[in-house]
Formats: sequence, structure tokens, C-alpha cells
Amino acid sequence: MKNYKQALTHNIFKIISQSAKELGIDSYVIGGFVRDFILKRESNKDIDIVAIGSGIKLAQQVSKNLPNCPKVQVFKTYGTAMLRFEDIEIEFVGARKESYNENSRNPVVENGTLQDDQNRRDFTINALALNLSEVNFGKLLDPFDGVKDLDNKIIKTPLDPNITYSDDPLRMLRAIRFATQLNFQIEKNSLKAITDNKHRIKIITKERIVVELNKILESKQPSIGFFLLEQTGLLDYILPELTGLKGIDEVEGQKHKDNFYHTLEVVDNISKNTDNLWLRWSALLHDIGKAPTKKFNKKIGWTFHGHEFEGSKMVFHLFKRLKMPLNDKMKYVQKLVLMSSRPIVLAQDEVTDSAVRRLVFDAGDFVDDLMTLCEADITTKNPKKFKKYHNNFKIVRQKIIEVEERDHIRNFQPPVSGEEIMAVFNLKPSKEIGIIKEAIKEAILDGDIPNEYEAAYALMIKEGKLLGLTVHEKR
Ligand code: ATP
Repeated sequence: MKNYKQALTHNIFKIISQSAKELGIDSYVIGGFVRDFILKRESNKDIDIVAIGSGIKLAQQVSKNLPNCPKVQVFKTYGTAMLRFEDIEIEFVGARKESYNENSRNPVVENGTLQDDQNRRDFTINALALNLSEVNFGKLLDPFDGVKDLDNKIIKTPLDPNITYSDDPLRMLRAIRFATQLNFQIEKNSLKAITDNKHRIKIITKERIVVELNKILESKQPSIGFFLLEQTGLLDYILPELTGLKGIDEVEGQKHKDNFYHTLEVVDNISKNTDNLWLRWSALLHDIGKAPTKKFNKKIGWTFHGHEFEGSKMVFHLFKRLKMPLNDKMKYVQKLVLMSSRPIVLAQDEVTDSAVRRLVFDAGDFVDDLMTLCEADITTKNPKKFKKYHNNFKIVRQKIIEVEERDHIRNFQPPVSGEEIMAVFNLKPSKEIGIIKEAIKEAILDGDIPNEYEAAYALMIKEGKLLGLTVHEKR
């Protein structure tokens, strides 16, 4: 068997080895750390240790042998323990054998051998273990040919996939997530088993589903995962708003594009330009309002009127259903969905300053992200149009900078306050104040006056007079 001593150069492995020896037990490093080392992925800061004995006792012994004896966090219900050393998080578990019942993904657990423990792992590539004992230090234990699957880029379960996925349906999402992160294929029996067991996803908590969705979205090419979710039927259970976008309708020879494919193209595009998870979510959801608003009109063909507004409302329900945060992150996604067509309309015609000013006013601090979304939204296969739209967006971006420098519209504050209007015209709170403020704001956005106090003050006087008000207090 191969030896992977070179994976274990960090001092911590010697200390674990020594601690296990003191307790008279064997220990192994297993799972993601070994997989990622062989794949030459960025070094994994999460280390999973299996003890053939008590994982908790091993963690405590390791802590004793480390400088400053770091705190050991014990999770009694799971029989696991965790400690942090430098920037590494080390999790300890006793080797175990698991059996499952129908309604829960939490197994009944008993002590077991290393082999039992490898059997309960989700994928062959996650069941790789390196021996930490003194004599066999670094020796690889790979009972399911996981290294071969790493070479062939295959996701496969150690045991019968039907049982593995049905026992813990979260593994279906993990398979798809790893396939996306690593750009691996899911082995065909596994893919079939996922499809057959898709309904079992119902026993998984929303929070765990979202963790996996986020990891898919954070990958280099998220579409891999969403296609797999769609292909296996899981997407219907998790994000039916997206499956609603599938397909092309044709009436009287007129077709619309497949908005599901389009959406995934947009998500892949945006993933080249941003690591912002919420911007990626916005790309994923930017067209969901198209399913409920789709109509055919004999004169103009297919329309999706108001899909942005409908979509932004759907974002709230989707976040709520998936128990995602209903905070500023959701509001951000809602706003980007709501405004997702605005720059496109802008870029189709000549780009005027006032249209750009209004865009900046409405989008506020999100305006740059909105532009990034709209650029990703250009999926036309017509190279002339592609170039034209991108060029127009370049102009819009340039104008945003110019307008910003000149007019400071972002996070607009009215240059004349409501209090000042009341004082000047001796008014109690009344609708006239709103009318005057609105007139000033509109004049600034239209470019009729600059965003400055003097000009705004003069307009206030003029508007007040038009409303029949008299100036009470001169400056
Ligand atoms: P990553 O850190 O990228 O998520 P990882 O493989 O380290 O990858 P963890 O979720 O930290 O993932 O899990 C550690 C190990 O525990 C896995 O490599 C696998 O062996 C095992 N494991 C995790 N979740 C499951 C599960 N649901 N079923 C079976 N084994 C699992």
C-alpha cells in the first residue's frame, strides 16, 4: 500500500500519534484532508481523526500534549470532540458502526473497527484513511479504491448506493456538491439511486440543504450542480421556482428562450466575476418571476410583464421556506431581482445622464453589483449584439462614475430638509412639504438643477410660491 507521509509533515500529526500511543490505541486521519491532499487542492484546515477507542479521550490527551493545552469541545450526543490548534480545526471521533431507521438521518451508533468506520463514509473518495501509528505512519488504507476514483474523477458510494442515500439523504446533495466543486462525474448507479430516493430529501432540515446549495453556488461552475439537481428531480423539491423556468413554448411559430438554461448561464458568467454569494443568489433568482408572468400576445409574442416585481416577491417566500436569513441579505437579493432589467433598458438606447442618475438613485450602493449582474445576463449567441450590449454597459459604467463625481446621487440626501421648508414658509407638517421635496429631487435627477444647496433653495422658493405659500423667514 502507498505511503503518504508527506501529507503529515505538520507537527500536529506527530502529537496525535504520540497521544494515541500513550492511550494504547490506534488513530487515523480520514476523509476530506486525505482526499484534498491527493487532489493537490488547497490544504484543508479541517482535520478528521478516527480513534479506535474513545475520540473524546484522544482529544483530551492531544490537548495535554499541545502548548497552552487548547480547550476541548465535547459533543456528548455524537461522541465527538473538537479542538483548535493554530489555524486548524481537528475533530476526533471513535471508530463506529452505524444503523439507520426510516425517519431520521441520525443513526444508532456502536463502537466499531476502522473498516466499520470507512463503511459508513459517504463516498469512496471520502473514506481514505492514513495511519498515524508510529510503525505505519502515513500508510494509506483505501478499501474501496478511492484513489482510483480520484484519478478517474468519480463520485461513488462505498456500499450499495440505494442504502447509502436512503439512510442519509443529505448524501444526495453532498454527492452533487462534490461533483460541482471537484468537477467529478457521479457514477451511474449512484445517479440512479439519487433519482430513486429523491423524495427522501424531505427528512433533511432546510438549514442543511442551504449549506449545500451555498457550496454549489460558491463553486467555480455552479451550473454543474443545478443541472444535476434538475436531472435527478431534486430541484423540484428544493427550488421549484427554478424548474418552473424550464422549457420552451411555441405558439404561432413564436418561441421564447429556455429560461432555466439561460439562468444557469448567467450564474456561471457571474461566478467568473464575483465571489459574493448573494450576488450569485441574485443571478440564480433574477428571472424566477418569468414563470408566473408568462403570456402570449398575438402582436408582440411572448411577454413577461412585471416579472422583476413578481420575482422580488418570490424571493421573500423562497428565503422564508428555506429558512434563509430574512435580513439585509434577502433585501439585497430582492432589490437586484427587482432592478435586474433596468440597466438593460438603458443600454438598448442612447444612454442619457438623467437615466443614469435615476439608476444610481434607485440602486444606491448596489449599483455596481447590479451592473455586474446585467453584464452576466448577456447570453446572446449573436456576436454583434453581444459586443454592442457590452459596449453600452461600458458607457453606462463610465457615466455612473461621471454622474457620481458631479452629482453625488448615491445615498441621496435632500439638500434642503423638511424642517427648513417648514421654517421658511411657516408650515406645520403638511403635504406641501412633500410636494416641494419631490420637485427638488426630480429636478436634480433630471439634471435641471445641480445637487447643491443654493440651487435647491431657489427652487424651493419658486415651488412654494407656485403653491401659494408666502416666505416667512428669510435666510
Ligand atoms: P469539505 O470540508 O469540503 O466539506 P469534507 O469531506 O471534509 O469536505 P465534512 O463535511 O467535513 O466534509 O466531512 C468530513 C468527513 O466525514 C467526510 O470526508 C466523510 O468521510 C464524512 N462524512 C461527512 N458527512 C457525511 C455523511 N452525511 N455521510 C457519511 N459520511 C460523511
